[in-house]
Formats: sequence, structure tokens, C-alpha cells
Amino acid sequence: MFTKVDKSRSLQDKFKVAMLSMMMHADFLDDEVLVLHFVSDPGSQKLGEKILQEFLKDATFKYEVLFHDELALTHKLFPIVEAMQKHFSAGSGAYYSDAIFFLSVAMHLIMPENITRIVQLDLDLKYKTNIRDLFLEFQHFPPEAVIGITREMQPVYRHTFWQFRKENPQTKVGEPPPNGLPGVNSGVMLLDLGAMRNSVLYNQLLQPNNVAKLAEQYRFRGHLGDQDFFSMIGMEHPQLFYPLACGWNRQLCTWWRDHGYTDVFHMYYHCEGPVYIYHGNCNTPIPND
Ligand code: UDP
Ligand code: MN
Repeated sequence: MFTKVDKSRSLQDKFKVAMLSMMMHADFLDDEVLVLHFVSDPGSQKLGEKILQEFLKDATFKYEVLFHDELALTHKLFPIVEAMQKHFSAGSGAYYSDAIFFLSVAMHLIMPENITRIVQLDLDLKYKTNIRDLFLEFQHFPPEAVIGITREMQPVYRHTFWQFRKENPQTKVGEPPPNGLPGVNSGVMLLDLGAMRNSVLYNQLLQPNNVAKLAEQYRFRGHLGDQDFFSMIGMEHPQLFYPLACGWNRQLCTWWRDHGYTDVFHMYYHCEGPVYIYHGNCNTPIPND
């Protein structure tokens, strides 16, 4: 997602960190092409095209850059995700413009059939390794998995599932790793569009009546868009998700540590093993190591 970037110095800085670190580590085989997709508005696209020329000029591999118009995608997306918006959006209504926050959920229906895999990445990332290695993770998907994703590293779903947890004191929902179900974070996502198209279960879960049923069952009301939808269906159907190692999306935000969850925070935040991608979520600075 690459919108309102021309209006925000902060997003421009994040974009530079992300692109420069990605390019510094990127390496591909001769017959491979890195295809970068940006969902953008006209002002951001203009700026993006200019900055990218500079950042990509020394690339040692083949690449393509494609811009998608945010409004055109929203127009396709809205009828598919309208019904789920009221469960997972801020505010009470299903605002047309908020549909774009659910793009990943219906990416398999929005992108042309010839695109069978796509990695969706936030802008507030810093790459410590070759982005090609992330694509290789697709090879480890078990048969039923449609999306590869890292767990959420704050107790946000311990909070959101509060009522369900009260009514089900033995539940793993919202509990910390390694045995609990802490939910997922949408900053780094491997979308196997082919598998998403072929999965009967996944497409059933997109149906408005099934979204409502699960939201009722889990007493769920969120405001984080696609991430809430994936976290909720993952509680019921974990086999749809391939759990990426925490180092692929090492989130740095500590907001929930200081908002009622000091005692349990560390169990969620802890991430062992190498960091491949830092995620400076909630505007958290990324270390310079
Ligand atoms: N984004 C954007 N324009 C905006 C805000 C967000 O394009 O004005 C995109 C960008 O790709 C960003 C992603 O939406 O990385 C998610 O937002 P953010 O990373 O700020 O959320 P956080 O990870 O802090 O929850
Ligand atoms: Mn982010």
C-alpha cells in the first residue's frame, strides 16, 4: 500500500528505509524478475516513480514496477468486503474508502488469474536479508494453507477477545506463544493466490453470513481490518495459515506494554532466532544494527 505518501514526510522516510534496505540485500537468479506492485493515488504514484528511479538504478537483477489505482481497486473490493467491514473497522459504518484495508483478504479475486503468488508488505519495514528468501517460504506451505504470516507480538488479541476469554477460561484464544493463539500481524504476508482461489473453506469464510457467525461465536469486534479477519478465522481454522518464523516480521511497537498489559507483555514480544525483517509498527524507530 502506497497512498498519501506525497503528503507525509514520515511515510517518505519509511519508504526510503524499506527500499534501500531491500535493494541492498536483494539478489535473484538470471531468469527471475522482482515485480513491485504499488497501490497508489496519483500524487503518491508520481513521487514514487521519481524516487524509485533513483533507488533501482544500480539493481543487478531484473525488475518491474507496477502501479495500481487505489480507487479502481476499492471499486472492485467494496462489494466483496462490505459485510465484514462492520466487524473489523473503526467506527460504526462500512465506509466505502475503508474497503482498501481488506485488500489482502480478497487479493485472489482482485488480481488477474496469471498472478498466483504475491507478498504483501508494509512500508514501515527494514530488510536484513534477501527478499528472495521470503518467496522461498511459499515452498513450505502445507496442503491446506493459503497465507503465510507471522504471529502478532503484542497482547492486542488478548484484549480484543476479552469477552470470549471470560466466558471460556480454558481457551487458548489470545494466549501467548508457544502454546497459545496470539493472532497474526499483517505487516508481512505471503498470499498464495492460487491456493486462496482453490480453497473451498477460505472462500466460504468470506461469505457475509459466515463472517457474522464467527464474529458472534468469538464475540469479536475489532478495528485493524484484514489483520482482524485473519486472526479471527485463524482461531477456528489454523490450518489455513502457514506460520512464518517471528524473524520475518519482527514487530517493534510496545504500545500495549504501557496500556494495561505490563505483566504479560514480554511473553508476546519475545522473538527468538535471527531477524530477517524489522517492522517499525506504530511509528517505532528501527535499530541501526
Ligand atoms: N499506508 C499508506 N498510507 C497511509 C498509511 C498507511 O500507504 O497514509 C500503508 C503503508 O504501506 C503502511 C501500511 O499501510 O505500511 C500499514 O500502516 P502502518 O504500517 O502505519 O500500520 P502499523 O504497522 O503501524 O499498524
Ligand atoms: Mn506497519
